Parts: sequence; structure tokens; C-alpha cells
Amino acid sequence: MSTSTALELKRISHFYVNDGGAALALQNLSLTVEQGEFVSLVGPSGCGKTTLLSIIAGIILPTEGSVQVSGHRVFGPSPKVGYMLQQDYLFPWRTIEENAVIGLELNGTLTKENREYVLHLLNQFGLGAQKGKYPTELSGGMRQRVALVRTMAVKPDLLLLDEPFSALDYQTKLQLEDLVFETMKSHGKTAVLVTHDISEAIAMSDRLIVMAPNPGRIRKEIVLPDSIARSMPLRAREQEGFLQLFHDVWNEFDAMESGGAGNAVTTG
Ligand code: ADP
Ligand code: MG
Repeated sequence: MSTSTALELKRISHFYVNDGGAALALQNLSLTVEQGEFVSLVGPSGCGKTTLLSIIAGIILPTEGSVQVSGHRVFGPSPKVGYMLQQDYLFPWRTIEENAVIGLELNGTLTKENREYVLHLLNQFGLGAQKGKYPTELSGGMRQRVALVRTMAVKPDLLLLDEPFSALDYQTKLQLEDLVFETMKSHGKTAVLVTHDISEAIAMSDRLIVMAPNPGRIRKEIVLPDSIARSMPLRAREQEGFLQLFHDVWNEFDAMESGGAGNAVTTG
């Protein structure tokens, strides 16, 4: 494994066991993500995207296979991996600043210097004036920005983003896409984004993984052209070839719905 590999999934399979028996949520899934790369996972509801992120985060141990982050096997949650969800899960009784530092508190690393870094991030994300307020006083977009600061505060190497924009109105979502994109690039972070929004996935990523359901697996992998991968998400949508890529991915979804098995992994 090269030192520039941020994430390596080897032959991951996962069964959920419940009353009715066992369900195969993921089957034999392998994936390598390079340092600084932005990868999106797209696929129909139930294809195992959230399960996969939880496995990468060390919250779920896979039935089979292994996860390595920066060359170290994952056996549980680690501050090296940040996980941001659709819901912001801010504590309503804590101010914005106190919410933003909670990860540092839990790690026992809430030093003066780290708190200053959090205040710097809050300023950078346009939340400087809100730091003394409570979550209910903020808009949905602002709360997601706080959640992003909280995730970034512990300086994770790898960020996992599970539909972080899907509860937001369209304009806020586009603004946050640009902010997250710029933040990841300027801090040299590696990111794995889960989204059901095809256009968001293309606009934000270097590489797109289309997953298929029953059982969850990789159906297709698309490396995006530099012109799209390097543009800010809002601008990426205006690049040549964007619409064609959208249709390509759309057709993959269509084929899955009409029962095209698509078992093989293809690269396009
Ligand atoms: P996605 O995020 O792509 O919508 P999930 O990872 O949430 O997919 O779910 C993948 C499959 O695993 C689905 O069939 C879902 O019903 C099942 N599943 C998810 N979580 C659990 C759980 N805690 N117990 C049992 N089955 C689950
Ligand atoms: Mg999900």
C-alpha cells in the first residue's frame, strides 16, 4: 500500500441480522481512495451507502473484509475520521461555539490553541457573529455549517459526508457545496460523500462510484474530467460534458430500476 492511499476497503461484505433472518447489505466491495481525493457514492435508496460509511467510520464492523485508513486497520471510531450526517445533531442547550468544540472535548484535546482554531473556522464559515447563539436561533444552512466546523475541529484526515445537504433549500445547498469543496481542497482533506443527487455528485467529485442494490455493490466507476473535477461545484455544472455525464449516470439508475443486473465493475 502506497503512503498516498487514504482509504482502502478490501472485499467488504455485511449482513444485518434481524428477526426475519439475515440480509446481505453489502457484497464483496473493494475500493481505494487516494489522499486528497473527493469520491462520491451514488445509488438507489437501500443500496448500502450509509452502511458503507458507518463501516469506514468504524461504527459498524463488517461481517467480512477490512478497512484501512492511512494504512491503519480500522477497528472502531477514531478522531482521524470525521463523520457528518444529514441531520446536524447539535445540542440545543449548548451555544454554537460549545457545540463546535464538542469533539475536542470528547477527545480530551480542547486546548486554548484548538479552541482558537475552531473560532477561526467559525469566522471562515461566516458564523463568527453566531458563536454565542443557540442552534434554534440559526437557519438550517447555518446549523450544517456549524456541524461542518465541529467535524473539521478535530482535524480528521478523512471526511465522511452522508447526504449533508439534502435537508436544505436549493440555494443554500449550492452555497454549502462550494464551501465544503473549497474547505476540503484548501485543507488537502480526503472526502467520501454519499448523495442521491446525481448532479451534486458530479459537481463535487474527482470520482463517482455508482452502487447497485440487493446486495449493495459497485456497479460502475466514473473518473471525472479535470475541467469538472477542479471547478467549484457551481461552476462545474456549466462545464462541457457535465450534461452528458448526468445522463450516463441517470441511465445507470434507469437500468437498475428495470432490472439490469450490472454485476460487473466497469470503468468509464
Ligand atoms: P442507503 O444508505 O444506500 O439507503 P443503507 O445502508 O441504509 O442504504 O441500507 C442498506 C440495506 O440494509 C437496506 O436494505 C436496509 O434496509 C438494510 N439496513 C440498514 N440498516 C439496517 C439495520 N440496522 N438493521 C437491519 N437492516 C438494515
Ligand atoms: Mg443512507
